[in-house]
Formats: sequence, structure tokens, C-alpha cells
Amino acid sequence: MSLISGSVCQKCFTLNEWTAANCRACMAPIDPATGSARVVKVFHANRGGKGDVAEICGAGQARVGRTYGDITFPGDKLLSPVHAVFVSEPAGPKVVDAGGLNGVFIRVAEAPIRVGDSFMCASEVLKLAGVLKAEEAAPLSDGTHVSGSPVPPPGSLIFQQVLLGGKAGRMWVRKPPVTIGREGCDISFPGTAFVSTRHAVIDIADGRLAVKDLNSANGTFVRVRGKAPLVDGDVVLMGQQLFRISVKG
Ligand SMILES: [Zn+2]
Repeated sequence: MSLISGSVCQKCFTLNEWTAANCRACMAPIDPATGSARVVKVFHANRGGKGDVAEICGAGQARVGRTYGDITFPGDKLLSPVHAVFVSEPAGPKVVDAGGLNGVFIRVAEAPIRVGDSFMCASEVLKLAGVLKAEEAAPLSDGTHVSGSPVPPPGSLIFQQVLLGGKAGRMWVRKPPVTIGREGCDISFPGTAFVSTRHAVIDIADGRLAVKDLNSANGTFVRVRGKAPLVDGDVVLMGQQLFRISVKG
């Protein structure tokens, strides 16, 4: 387990001694308030995992990567060499995507989602690729229309399955609410055992698109945009590693 404590620079995130008045890297003044009594523990939640892998007392950070950092997983090829950082700062703890290729995902009960966001229902990775606009089908120059299947209604959501290796998988165009699950849903994955029968739904709530987990067994995870605040009990996924966050104080 890494025990990490000290004062983290709010400008460059360098970890400094508790007593430091200025950052040793960028010389910015250190806010003395970073020395709070908060303890953030990061538990490795994989089956047969390592238990608690990092404890951040007061302000500090724990870096996660395949080869560099305070917590490393050399065997996890889905992790970048430096992947993410758990940070505890006066405003609260957060996870910061350090530019890891495959991103950082956080388990959600319900969360806003917008075009370009990726999310996971158990092992299935989907991207909300777009929203269909109302478009008049344009005829050819001689006035003839191109025949085809009926066009889905405007406002329909375009989903793209992201396959291992980053390849594009199946695509769905569905009008919200869009249910996702193993069978009988708008988007079904009959062959994926870890997906619950009814796993999640994408719908419009208060004028915004949101993804809602339907009490699935293995959870719905949304990719973090840069950074995300953490609260006690949060579950964070990066590469093949699952972490549970405990926040006390
Ligand atoms: Zn600094």
C-alpha cells in the first residue's frame, strides 16, 4: 500500500512536504488549508485484488499506471504507462485522467451524458455518437428521390459500439428512452453474460440526456471528462482495474 501525505500544489499537483510554504517544482505558494484531516483510501476491488492500495492523508495524490506511479499494474495492457491520478485537495477528492488512452470510468446511478461520451454496461462499451437532426431528403438534380427504408425520427440517438482495439462495432439509431440490456431492449447484447437483462436506460431528464442504471449487477460506468469529483463509496474503473473509494473526515 502507498501511504501518501503532504501538501499538493494547486498549480502543478506536485506533492510537497507538509511544512512547505512554496511548491518545490513551480514555486507557487502552498495553501496551508491543504493540511486537512481527510483520509482517502483507494481499495482495489477486483476479484482477488490487493485490498487497500493507497491511503491519502490530508492533501496528496496517488498516481496509477501500468509502469509508473504509486499504484502500478504491469500486467494490465489496457492501462497507459501513467494513466490517472487520485487527488485529495481542500475542495474534495477527485480522480484526474492523466491522458490514459482508454480513459477513466466512474460507476453511476444516474448521470448526464452528451454527444461524444463513452459509457459501459458491464463489458460493453458504447459511445453516444450523435443526435439525428430533422432533414428533408434531397432529390437528385432531375427531381428523383433515392428510395430506402424509412428514416428514423429526428431526435433519435446514434450509438456506436467500441470494440477492443478501438474498432467500430455495431451501430444503433434509437429514439429515447433507449433501454440497454441482454434481451428485449432497444439495444440488446444477448451473448454478453455480464450485461443484466435490463441494464440501463438513456432518456431526457430536465431537458438533458442522462444515463440511468437499472440496478444492474455489474454497473453502468461513464467515462470521466478530464476529472471527476469523488465521494465515499464511488467505484472507479481504469484498464481492467476496479477501485472503490473511501472518504473519511
Ligand atoms: Zn507547483
